Amino acid sequence: MTDRSFRSILTGSFSTPCAKNPTVAMMEAGYAKAGIDARYINCDVKPDNLAAAIAGAKAMEWAGFNCSIPHKIAVLEHLDEIAESAKIIGAVNCVQIRDGRLTGNNTDGKGFLASLRKVTDPKGKTIVILGAGGAARAIAVELALAGAARITIANRSPEKAKAIAELLTQNSDAQAHAISWEGALDVPKGTDVLINATSIGLGDAEAIPAIETSSLSNATIVADVIPNPPMTKLLREAKAQGCQTLDGLGMLVNQGIIGAELVLGAKLSPDIMEKTLAVIFGAQD
Ligand code: NDP
Repeated sequence: MTDRSFRSILTGSFSTPCAKNPTVAMMEAGYAKAGIDARYINCDVKPDNLAAAIAGAKAMEWAGFNCSIPHKIAVLEHLDEIAESAKIIGAVNCVQIRDGRLTGNNTDGKGFLASLRKVTDPKGKTIVILGAGGAARAIAVELALAGAARITIANRSPEKAKAIAELLTQNSDAQAHAISWEGALDVPKGTDVLINATSIGLGDAEAIPAIETSSLSNATIVADVIPNPPMTKLLREAKAQGCQTLDGLGMLVNQGIIGAELVLGAKLSPDIMEKTLAVIFGAQD
């Protein structure tokens, strides 16, 4: 006789395409290191199949799941509850299932914040965000709720930057501004943190958002959301200017850690998760 359980806790991710998403490797390394018998299943779910995938997760008593592109907004209509900041952001990437009830969170911005907090407290800071897509929106909302004083959003499509600035003004005390980003952007004097939240640099080590690098002060912390490759051209140039830099791996690892806390109530070790991703992405200093 053995009293060993052969039933693992089930978690995972719904997105499409999913084959290049390394989160499964990072999460299963974290679970194994913490001694948690849980699986993270990376599922390719097409838009028309989201409802069926969620019903399946409920039927199989999954503990929760992440959703990535293209499901972060579509998932909202399936949820019983939505956390406050996810409501403001208008998107959910992490869902807990408890007694058949679904609660949605957004851990993208929270993961960025946790990564940033290792080097500075955003409270009272002046921040410039490049981009106005889903990542920029989540990061901007969390920074505003964390007490950032001034947030400027620069985007080549200015109406999207304006929508985020209005969202921040309505929901926080931050002074929020939108600027149209044409040509090389002069980084405003007094910028404490500059964040690339565009997709520029993803899978291309030589791509760089258009900024006037000579306008970058060495007192500015430069962060990039791009996890692959982690040492983007923007970060290399910022480092050469003497700036402190933060790569996109920190955001990815921290959103995984926050997700595991929400879904499993477990504390995962960042070290093994960072190492796993660094091996996959070939990170270099
Ligand atoms: P979206 O498609 O929602 O937004 C992309 C943004 O990039 C838009 O603001 C877009 O501008 C801008 N952009 C793209 N190409 C250019 C260009 N050539 N010149 C100027 N602006 C450009 O994507 P997401 O916000 O969801 O994701 C952005 C990046 O963040 C992705 O690369 C993703 O991998 C990364 N990410 C990283 C995470 C992590 O944990 N490290 C978590 C989530 C995302 P416009 O509005 O004008 O089109």
